[in-house]
Amino acid sequence: MIKATDYIELEDHYGAHNYHPLDVVVARAEGAWVWDVDGTKYLDFLAAYSAVNQGHCHPRLVAAMVRQAGRVGLTSRAFRNDQLGPFCKEVTELTGFGRVLPMNSGAEAVETAIKAARKWAYTVKGVPDGQAEILVFEGNFHGRTTTIVGFSSEADYRAGFGPFTPGFRLLPYGDADAVAKALHPNVAAILVEPIQGESGIVVPPDGFLRRLRQLADQHRALLVVDEIQSGLGRTGKLFAYQHEGVRPDIVIIGKALSGGMYPVSAILADDEVMDVFQPGQHGSTFGGNPLGMAIAREALRVLVDEGLVERSAELGDYFLGKLRAIRSPHIAEIRGRGLWIGIQLKPEAGGARRFCEALQREGLLCKETHATVIRIAPPLVITRDEIDWATERIAKVLTTL
Ligand SMILES: *Cc1c(COP(=O)(O)O)cnc(C)c1O
Repeated sequence: MIKATDYIELEDHYGAHNYHPLDVVVARAEGAWVWDVDGTKYLDFLAAYSAVNQGHCHPRLVAAMVRQAGRVGLTSRAFRNDQLGPFCKEVTELTGFGRVLPMNSGAEAVETAIKAARKWAYTVKGVPDGQAEILVFEGNFHGRTTTIVGFSSEADYRAGFGPFTPGFRLLPYGDADAVAKALHPNVAAILVEPIQGESGIVVPPDGFLRRLRQLADQHRALLVVDEIQSGLGRTGKLFAYQHEGVRPDIVIIGKALSGGMYPVSAILADDEVMDVFQPGQHGSTFGGNPLGMAIAREALRVLVDEGLVERSAELGDYFLGKLRAIRSPHIAEIRGRGLWIGIQLKPEAGGARRFCEALQREGLLCKETHATVIRIAPPLVITRDEIDWATERIAKVLTTL
């Protein structure tokens, strides 16, 4: 029998070393649980960075995938297919935007939003050619393409990958006054995560998005919100920007759009922005493919039918309350929205990694982020009993380590 260590060795020997995963080799998953190759069961507290909000191997998603795979998987956009149109109608009706442009990975959708914002600046706003600027924030995570890492503030994401695309300006996250000062007539857009996930579940000050909306309106710039991780229920609303009652000009979605079964991403916008794309000006071989569209349609229906957005709000409050009751000398702060919680450890706690490794031994899979934050983001189908079970283990690790 092939052992876990053999799989790890194969990966380390033949694969690129661009990740540092926990040494758990998952062979099977269901709902909020995963099983490793030895049959040990773990509660998944990462949910593939929120791609698996609907839970692993949701029977309705598996059925939709298998059904569509047996009909037609890929047509390319050279032809039409019978899943794309219904997907466009359903996703725009659910989200309240005029149009959608489907892509595959999150980074591709971010690139699509950047292209849309720039073209809008030149063709609608009247910015001189080549002068458009996009305001972005320190601590951002928008993906890994060369353009996107070019405006990251993380040295590791950038080092050795230049030269980078110009036209981006980094500002402190949460500082609307800095944005007010940085705005000028050539600004095409403000690109922002409503809560910074990879940066450690960083929640900006109240009113930050509302100020960005006002500033964008005053200076005729687009407000582009990256909801790839925060969207589709994670924070207890369909979109995290709804906590502030604003409406962005472009919303970027991905991850849970397919419930983790298949890469599907998209941007949402109204006509004024989306109409900047004419035939031939943007595209993707797999974007809008019938297999992805069939899965995404079902993934959105599951979100609604199972009330997962409301569930995230309710269980998130419950969980946050339980975690805040833990008395541990290591905890600096516990913050979050919905079922998206970061346990910020004190600098002297010795890093989050050793706590994540201890939680793994207790049957809980967490991934540290930014060295000192234990991130908690279970599938939204998790139950109250499972949260109680997990809290006991988190309390044990935080009080005994
Ligand atoms: C994951 C993520 C991306 C990138 O998505 P990929 O599918 O990994 O390319 C972009 N923005 C945010 C906020 C993300 O969490």
